[in-house]
Amino acid sequence: VVPVSVTDIQNAARRPAVAAETRRHDHWINGRAVAPAEGAYFATHNPATREPGDTIAAGTAADVELAVTTAAAAWPGWAARPARERSDVLHAVADAMAAASDELAELEWASTGKVPGQVAFEIAMSVDYFRYYAGVVRALNGRTIDLGAGAHAYTRLEPYGVIGAITPWNLPLNQASRALAPALAVGNAIVAKPSEFTATSTVLLARLATQAGLPDGLLNVVTGTGPEVGSPLAAHPLVRKVAFTGSVATGRHLAQLAGDRLIPLTLELGGKSPVVVFADADLDRAAAAAAAAIQTNSGQVCSATTRLLVEGSVHDEVVARIVERLERLRPGVDFGPIITEAQFGKVLAAFADASRDGLTPLTGGAAYDDGPGAAGQYVRPTVYADVPLTHPLAREEVFGPVLVTRRFSDEQDAVAAANDTDFGLVASVWSGDVARGLRVAERIDAGQVAVNGGPLTNETPFGGYKNSGFGREKGLEALHDYAQTKTVSLSLG
Ligand code: NAD
Repeated sequence: VVPVSVTDIQNAARRPAVAAETRRHDHWINGRAVAPAEGAYFATHNPATREPGDTIAAGTAADVELAVTTAAAAWPGWAARPARERSDVLHAVADAMAAASDELAELEWASTGKVPGQVAFEIAMSVDYFRYYAGVVRALNGRTIDLGAGAHAYTRLEPYGVIGAITPWNLPLNQASRALAPALAVGNAIVAKPSEFTATSTVLLARLATQAGLPDGLLNVVTGTGPEVGSPLAAHPLVRKVAFTGSVATGRHLAQLAGDRLIPLTLELGGKSPVVVFADADLDRAAAAAAAAIQTNSGQVCSATTRLLVEGSVHDEVVARIVERLERLRPGVDFGPIITEAQFGKVLAAFADASRDGLTPLTGGAAYDDGPGAAGQYVRPTVYADVPLTHPLAREEVFGPVLVTRRFSDEQDAVAAANDTDFGLVASVWSGDVARGLRVAERIDAGQVAVNGGPLTNETPFGGYKNSGFGREKGLEALHDYAQTKTVSLSLG
């Protein structure tokens, strides 16, 4: 996920109007809305207001069966089309999404309560996944291999067939688009299973794709819970690959299912990413970026840099600048709520555990008792200084607006502290000495490292080391991850 600047959020688009009446969202299978086989629906709610929202289909294995068999019938025709034609369709999908961005924003807001700038940013990113993969798929080729006189080999990148895409609630449309666009580009068909809390924008995306000319059956969405829909999807014999974004616990469960079936899996899991600040850095920029990481989506971002490691001589100054920035932020204007009720409870429980262990926050450490923040699931941006590396607050992902700090003495200590984690998704390094920045970047065990605020975009491959998962999304790497390589070898003799 690309870090969003504070200005991006403050230059917010107009908040979309909330729909007056509750709407019902069915599955999207074979190019049409399909009611759930068992006829059940469940309610969503808006975490910014705690008011009930739309209802979504409560899917079961019967709905998964229909969607997967439909996708299996559709993909060979799509895979046989030249990349140029698939590209044209994906461009049309991007155009349809851009044209419907108000409608997408309204659905996204109704189930996440995000601030408008964040919603607008995520929709723009989602559209861009389709544009980017529509473009680059036309330049995707295998290679020829020199086998000496009398022989010749070449490789082809072929789709898997049906891909199951299981996505979380923190950036709903963005996480879905990140998987769907490259998977479709290389000729697969998809059954998507969005989070049961935030499914509506993914259902609308599938509808828009059909209207834009994506052939029926290629993008199906079955909504419902993980056990009722996600597990049967990953276990279905016609699903040839699973792309999962979510928690480590669910990732482990899906890895076991995929292991039993011997199918590949992309796992985009959590993080506890470090931000390393040396005394010679531009301290103001580093502090602004560290504060923005906590503000963005209220820290509910897998790549959020939530462990601040600062050279001892400037630790207190950097932390003071961050606290000062965070205390200026307003709930509902500068940052959004915690999206699910369960997650809201988990963040508050982390505060209670910290307090039990004698840790006192420099700022935050609670929800709002009054004012606009009390109307929804808002948590105060929080900083705990000098947290021991052994404490759960410094080791486990909170997935909320919580920053923990630690001082370091020198470069070696900084690298050791950065790597003292089970995760390895992202890291950020700040130093006036660019050679040192790059040296440290190379020694940190993480899938992507940003030096002095380097951006991570849709073009840059994204994925984890260690417990943060494996496989790569974004960039050209995602096209390779959603295709399998076939070698064709020929004897000329
Ligand atoms: P989650 O694992 O609870 O749910 C993710 C998805 O998996 C949902 O669609 C859910 O319904 C489904 N699921 C849950 N249990 C399942 C089961 N038993 N079988 C099959 N599917 C199941 O995660 P979450 O709480 O929605 O998301 C938060 C987590 O996601 C955080 O840990 C965060 O770091 C991670 N995340 C990672 C990335 C990344 O790119 N690395 C991006 C966003 C979020």
